[in-house]
Amino acid sequence: MTRLVSLAALAACLSACAAAPSADSGTRADIFLTPDTTLVQGVVPSNTTLDGMLRGHGMAAAAVAGVISAARQVFDPRRLRSSQPFRLVTSLDGALRQFEYEIDAASFLRVAPAAIGSDNLRAEVLPIPRTLEQASAAGTIDEDTPSLFQAMASAGEGAELTIALAQIFAGEIDFNTELQPGDRFTLAYDRYRRQDRADRPVTYGDIHAAEFQNDGRLLRAIRFTPPGGQPGYFDEQGRSLRRFFLRSPLKFEPRITSRYSLRRMHPVLQTARAHRGVDYGAPTGAPVVAVSSGTVVSATYDDTNGRMVRLRHASGYQSYYLHLSAFAAGVRAGARVEQGQTIGLVGSTGLATGPHLHYGLQKNGGWVDPLREHRNMPPGDPVPAAAMDAFRDTRDRALAQLSYN
Ligand SMILES: [Zn+2]
Repeated sequence: MTRLVSLAALAACLSACAAAPSADSGTRADIFLTPDTTLVQGVVPSNTTLDGMLRGHGMAAAAVAGVISAARQVFDPRRLRSSQPFRLVTSLDGALRQFEYEIDAASFLRVAPAAIGSDNLRAEVLPIPRTLEQASAAGTIDEDTPSLFQAMASAGEGAELTIALAQIFAGEIDFNTELQPGDRFTLAYDRYRRQDRADRPVTYGDIHAAEFQNDGRLLRAIRFTPPGGQPGYFDEQGRSLRRFFLRSPLKFEPRITSRYSLRRMHPVLQTARAHRGVDYGAPTGAPVVAVSSGTVVSATYDDTNGRMVRLRHASGYQSYYLHLSAFAAGVRAGARVEQGQTIGLVGSTGLATGPHLHYGLQKNGGWVDPLREHRNMPPGDPVPAAAMDAFRDTRDRALAQLSYN
């Protein structure tokens, strides 16, 4: 947090604010050049409201009420999020000159007087000026970078891109257990850079294509939107990478995968002892996700299974998630859940020696081996025949972009 009342700081704000597209930037220059102005910039602290934050920076109560009522026209103040940057310019008597708040990577809120000297405030949501780049990156899982997050970081990119990459292959690779030393990945994607603030991290758009060499297999994904359909990822032949079941019910999370011990931990101890399911070693609190879309049959507690969620899916399947430390909000009998949605957190409730997830799967009322069943389910719809020419064009361009690495 910086609190500045110097002209140098005002000049800094002026240059930063001037980069934002606005027809009235000349007018604002006049406002900022007055010497009785206070500039505060920083990030929103946790556990605060817009009201509390603005009062905390010396704004008069009436002025704060004016800002909030103006902001409400375009933005719900309850959506104020901690750690998001803001910039507040006030006169020394506590009146608002300008308030800016970054809503997300693409847009910001600005509240300012409608005209010089006016008491009427105008609120707008404006696009953040940013440059789109076509980028590509590559990495290897090895002793120096044993997790996907570390491998991506050493390629210079962030966790959001890692998660997006893992989601593309979530039906094919269990990133919690199946990563191997020597695995390699390459991807081509959109990256956004801020034009006004070089100190803000880059953000990511779509991944256009990705390649993953996992344990000797070569997987490729090309983003394509069939006419009249939703965008999806397909292999080179146009087969969908989306699966009826996810590869595993554990969400790919930094705290799980960043440990080198994962590979040697053997989290999957299959049946032998009439064990009707799969145990996944995972820390307490790791998110557990629905392997397929469906309906909650029950969310219950008993001394053996602990907190247990049971889901019903299409084609006669039911999935069971045991020993949870908590249920996710809204997970109760009859609720609808989507594939990949968090339904609870890993725990050790019931008969469990330590934190782990016991995952079971039934088909038409009988227990089946989840790993084999997941593997054998057919994929989603392929690219329609009529769209294959368009798909091949997209594919060839995307794969060319990948091969620059
Ligand atoms: Zn078990």
